[in-house]
Amino acid sequence: MRNHYLIDAYIGLGSNLQNPHAQVTHALVQLKQLENCSLHSFSSLYSSRPMGPPDQPAYINAVAWLKTRLDASTLLKKLQSIENEHGRTRLGEHWGPRTLDLDILVYGNYKLKSQALSVPHPGIKYREFVLYPLREVNKNLMIPGVGVVHRIQPRCYPNGLIRLPI
Ligand code: ADP
Ligand code: MG
Repeated sequence: MRNHYLIDAYIGLGSNLQNPHAQVTHALVQLKQLENCSLHSFSSLYSSRPMGPPDQPAYINAVAWLKTRLDASTLLKKLQSIENEHGRTRLGEHWGPRTLDLDILVYGNYKLKSQALSVPHPGIKYREFVLYPLREVNKNLMIPGVGVVHRIQPRCYPNGLIRLPI
């Protein structure tokens, strides 16, 4: 399904298995190639501590800003097929290790809440590995129901987050 107009969508990327740096870099190329989307900009790569089970490798994270004509659920399906191409297996372990995770952080000024899709992503304001790269791509972004990125990000403890050199 397509919209007639472009929506600003922000995508969170994360990986902690099988060369995470390469997984995220390749995923950015795939986002650039998505039909009915254009990759407006993207953040540096960041190294972050894992959420959830602590006995897993560090993550590489980034945020991409897309302009898209896809509706939110179609965009999510496209992102899930990119995850699958990266050999993502869904073993059911919440926040367990993964080759690639692509989350829709923000989809225009929409507020959606279902099991299949919640936007803005409910974890945004607590996650340093989302807020710091998000600030890099658009510090003035208004996250619906949450606030402006440059006001929220300083309240989020960096928790060992490292911005990697380009
Ligand atoms: P998580 O990212 O929380 O570790 P998963 O990537 O395994 O979990 O996603 C689990 C489910 O979350 C997906 O099947 C998807 O339908 C749902 N989901 C809900 N909201 C979103 C969102 N904003 N972005 C991506 N997936 C979402
Ligand atoms: Mg996910």
